[in-house]
Amino acid sequence: MTNTVRAIGATAEAAPLEPIDIVRRTPEANDVRISITHSGICHSDIHTVRGEWGDRPYPVVPGHEIVGTVLEVGSDVTRFAVGQTVGVGVIVDSCGTCPECLDHLECYCTGTGPRFTYADPEPQMPGAFTYGGYAQEIVTAERFVYRIPEGLDLAGVAPLLCAGITVFSPLKHWGAGPGKTVAVAGIGGLGHLAVKFAHALGAHTVAITSSEEKRDLCLKLGADEVLVSSDPAAMAAADSRFDIIISTLPSDHDMNPYISLLALDGTYVVVGAVNDLNRPLTLPGLMMRRRSIGGSMIGGTVETQEMLDFCGEHGITADVEVVAADYVNQAYDRVVAGDVAFRFVIDATTI
Ligand SMILES: [Zn+2]
Ligand SMILES: [Zn+2]
Repeated sequence: MTNTVRAIGATAEAAPLEPIDIVRRTPEANDVRISITHSGICHSDIHTVRGEWGDRPYPVVPGHEIVGTVLEVGSDVTRFAVGQTVGVGVIVDSCGTCPECLDHLECYCTGTGPRFTYADPEPQMPGAFTYGGYAQEIVTAERFVYRIPEGLDLAGVAPLLCAGITVFSPLKHWGAGPGKTVAVAGIGGLGHLAVKFAHALGAHTVAITSSEEKRDLCLKLGADEVLVSSDPAAMAAADSRFDIIISTLPSDHDMNPYISLLALDGTYVVVGAVNDLNRPLTLPGLMMRRRSIGGSMIGGTVETQEMLDFCGEHGITADVEVVAADYVNQAYDRVVAGDVAFRFVIDATTI
């Protein structure tokens, strides 16, 4: 038996998104079948459906910031029950046996590699590909399903499943907390969550934005200070101050002025730049203060659950604009134009 559901997908590289029917796999013993209520729009979705990250198996149904309600559980599922509110993020499978998987770092799986929530081969259906969260339902292995703490706005929870864990994981890894000064460069979908997390973790939090107009907004998000990157005097005054910089800046930016802001042993963590840099890096800037550049990609399953629980304790959600499914193409154009504060979420009941 198969399960046909309605979805929003792209049938070709240049095609707009449109309603299509897709087939979900029949739930197996370890699977959870979820009725999707909210699906965040991530910039990765746009890169993927527009073919900017290489060939994809069309139709592509994007969406990896998924919140919904459990409809059905397989016979071996122990952690979830029908009716429970749950989430699904960027990956839906990994080998489960490599050192990284055993360490719950499935996103860095060196066995089969992580299997992504959309546009990756669907293991249970030969020849088929995974479809993401812009759909009425999804069927996912229990290992990649998360509990959603009670009391949070569910639309604002959806972006936590990608944007949230993408910034939470490096903040934890590089030790953000009391006594540390953490800067967040770029205050958008990722950056606004990084500011909230850094503040809640107890770090002295500095928002770095190119626009003076965002100052009040940054303070409201929880920043202790705002540094305007277009102000040379302010940038000079912040020299060697930060223990960690979480950089959500777009791919093609000059890192050197930001590296100068790092304290001794400070780390510049790249999470927003997926393509290569086209600007040279000045190495003495690293050596003179034993600075590092790091990168980070989403986070593992245990840490994702920890992040969601942390959000429950601290009342953290993303700032979102909820839209109906038929607005998705306009929403994409507005994301590309930077015209959203800070994340679109599709009301999946309109699909
Ligand atoms: Zn994403
Ligand atoms: Zn693995």
